[in-house]
Amino acid sequence: MSSNKPLISSSLEPAWRSAGLRYYAYNFALRQRFSHRVQKVSIDAGFTCPNVDGTVAKGGCTFCDNRSFSPSRRLPRAGILGQIDQSIARLRLRYKNCNHFLAYFQPASNTYAPVDVLRPLFETALAHPQVVGLAIGTRSDCVPDNVLDLLEELAERTYLSVEFGMQTIHNRSLEWMNRGHYHDSFLDAVQRSRGRGFEICAHAILGLPGENHADMLATARELARVDIDAVKLHNLYCVKNTKLAEQVAAGEVTLMGRNDYVRTLVDFLERVPPTMVVERISGDAPPDYFLGPSWCLDKQGVKTAIEGEFERRDSWQGKRYTLR
Ligand code: SF4
Repeated sequence: MSSNKPLISSSLEPAWRSAGLRYYAYNFALRQRFSHRVQKVSIDAGFTCPNVDGTVAKGGCTFCDNRSFSPSRRLPRAGILGQIDQSIARLRLRYKNCNHFLAYFQPASNTYAPVDVLRPLFETALAHPQVVGLAIGTRSDCVPDNVLDLLEELAERTYLSVEFGMQTIHNRSLEWMNRGHYHDSFLDAVQRSRGRGFEICAHAILGLPGENHADMLATARELARVDIDAVKLHNLYCVKNTKLAEQVAAGEVTLMGRNDYVRTLVDFLERVPPTMVVERISGDAPPDYFLGPSWCLDKQGVKTAIEGEFERRDSWQGKRYTLR
């Protein structure tokens, strides 16, 4: 099943509130659209990143363990269909009755190639009988117009979400993380993506060093102003083999505590529109790879705390959103 209907409900009273939710959770949005559970299956299509291979910079973002996709270390992976089958088999252990999946092109920058390389990768995933759509993670400086034309064409026949790693609107923070682009790059990508039939999702990180509470809420207000379709939020967390790991070990960076994160996240969601799908509210990594903070490995605990904070305030996503 596929279509190009947007996930966003046009109802004045959001359906997610009628369903007793405090924010527009992604699994709820997917159920609205597909009428059944849909899970993402991650695909590593062998991309690298211009922030790693030297095109923009070397070394990548300070929090990213990019050794695994640096050009010299790229290992052959199972084919696209093989990866989908393997991921579905794993997910079936948990979601026995789930039969519909989004192929999620996840590691590195998944539009960082010419169109004639990208097209067969995306078409192959779509040809899997249980794949009902695509999610593609990328950087805002990796979407030239001919790539956007391809994504628009795909979105005419399937659900497609394009995820841009925005991270923050503050250029000093983007410099700190060695992002290799500034906020104007994100705005440019959104402006050129708009109206092409796919969902525009932004990743944002809370708890970046040098950002105070007001700075983080400024990012929320900017996302509301730009009016993207979806957001993925998580705290800054630390994995092995990264520059961030060295900075944390040296005491140069302090990672956000859980209570601070929960309060800030709720403040953030109160300021974005109720139509913005919230694809993620916390982050984690495989335990053998993860360094901290340890609280974010308890995803259910974080989710419960966020819902509890909304309830304590008798609040919800968009409560403090104002049209400007
Ligand atoms: S842009 Fe993404 S893939 Fe590239 S280094 Fe940064 S986090 Fe890693």
